[in-house]
Amino acid sequence: MLKVLIIAGPSGTGKNTIIRKLLERCASCTRLVTATTREKREGEREGEDYYFITKQEFLKRVAEGSIPEYWHAKETDRYYGTYLPDLDSKKDSNTVLVAQMQTEGIKYFKEHFNTIVILLTPNSKEDLKNRITHRSGVSEVELDERLNLVDAELEELELISDYKIKNPDGKLNETVDKIILILKKEDYV
Ligand code: 5GP
Repeated sequence: MLKVLIIAGPSGTGKNTIIRKLLERCASCTRLVTATTREKREGEREGEDYYFITKQEFLKRVAEGSIPEYWHAKETDRYYGTYLPDLDSKKDSNTVLVAQMQTEGIKYFKEHFNTIVILLTPNSKEDLKNRITHRSGVSEVELDERLNLVDAELEELELISDYKIKNPDGKLNETVDKIILILKKEDYV
């Protein structure tokens, strides 16, 4: 059965950076690429970070079933969702599929596949704010929205996560070491 690893955590906890590093270090890990209606950020690539599609196309795909779960960020009116064509193309490759997603997605994967969820937690709210502010393309409205969501989100995520690890600034490799240990312990790699 397909093995999935979901890196969860409030926005700004460094999920994407961790996933990039993990993919460099774990030869049997592949990224599950999801779809979004948001604008591409600097350095992001189509089909590697996300499939960047229009809202119209996104909703069409939801209706036809190729996006089986999604999250709608109300304040920014952005949609994010699991993209079945990507999942299907990677399903039989005997790799660990690595993704980052919100609760809806986690529930979907837990229901259908072997799924480990690792919750990344920030060192402090201040750290988190700094990280989000330094990220290009994040507006004031979005920053407020994200910070307000943090506490509620952490509580909810703790309930569905299997492991919880801190991701302090400057300790990228150590955090990835911990994830690789978990993958070994779980017989994923
Ligand atoms: P960002 O805009 O920073 O790339 O992502 C915002 C949020 O969208 C992240 O917290 C991420 O977990 C979530 N996300 C990305 N893809 C999916 C998906 O396929 N399904 C769900 N439910 N959430 C997703």
